[in-house]
Amino acid sequence: MKNSFQCPKCNSTEVVEVLGQRFSQQNVPLNTWQTKIGIQDRYICCNCGYTEEYTRLNDDFKNWAKGALKKQRGKDGFV
Ligand SMILES: [Zn+2]
Repeated sequence: MKNSFQCPKCNSTEVVEVLGQRFSQQNVPLNTWQTKIGIQDRYICCNCGYTEEYTRLNDDFKNWAKGALKKQRGKDGFV
């Protein structure tokens, strides 16, 4: 949907892009004080309302994800 601007549910091509804002409830907090956040952009079908969300893979997110993946793998016993 992000690239094709076509809804995978109803095939409508009336898809709008709603870019995330710095101070939005939709954002993914990456630290306690939310000085680092993952901003989420949304793609919404104007025919059926189906919505997809994408987190921007900026440097803040990539750095945070490295640590999170390491922690996650440790928990499951996989390295
Ligand atoms: Zn749709």
